Amino acid sequence: MSIGKANCLVCGAPLEYWEEAQEVTCHICGKKETGHSICVDGHYVCDACHRSEGVRLTLEYCKQTDSKNPIEICQHMMDDKSIYPNGPEHHTLIGASLLTAYKNAGGKIDLEKALAELQKRSMCVPGGTCGFWGTCGAAVSAGQFWSIVSGSTPMQDVAWGECQRLTSRILDRMADYGGPRCCKRTGFISIEIAAAYAEEMHGVKMEMPESITCKYFPRNAECLRDRCPYFPEGAVHPNDK
Ligand SMILES: [Zn+2]
Ligand SMILES: [Zn+2]
Repeated sequence: MSIGKANCLVCGAPLEYWEEAQEVTCHICGKKETGHSICVDGHYVCDACHRSEGVRLTLEYCKQTDSKNPIEICQHMMDDKSIYPNGPEHHTLIGASLLTAYKNAGGKIDLEKALAELQKRSMCVPGGTCGFWGTCGAAVSAGQFWSIVSGSTPMQDVAWGECQRLTSRILDRMADYGGPRCCKRTGFISIEIAAAYAEEMHGVKMEMPESITCKYFPRNAECLRDRCPYFPEGAVHPNDK
């Protein structure tokens, strides 16, 4: 498996998206299912193959780091080749970074149990939810973080509302910037807002960097460039040179 500058995990070519799902076969595991995208050379990679290694390594790392900084935790994982420029592995990564930093900053949770629960929930959130469901998977991941730390269920009153409040704040900020999707931009937005929320609601103060600068944009052709709040000042995207 190679990681190209574009999105196909098999050949690095750009992906084409369909509005309506079609029958596809995973190039890696052979599974037949319906999907919304193939690369221009016809490869399809299923969500399970896309995220299995990234999710495994994320959970392993989160169990052993003592960092209180969710951006540092998530960037450490984003630096690993198992976390692709975009993909559903971010739907676990964002919540895991938040749970871990929350615990290390004094939050009262059983981290191992919390991560296991997050894994089960986040693996149900497929790739492409931002565009197809109207709800970015990184925001959902932050919502799962808050649901776990607040003990929310569909039958709760206060915690139920807290979860909706957090994801609505995150989605509102994402909407200000518009698309196309970028799992780094939406991940950083989710973490910034969720970390502030944890302090506001539970008094748990995670460590945050003074500012967040993206170093992943060269591998994302659809980067918003200077319309993204995390694009380095004065940088030129390699595709624009
Ligand atoms: Zn391909
Ligand atoms: Zn597969």
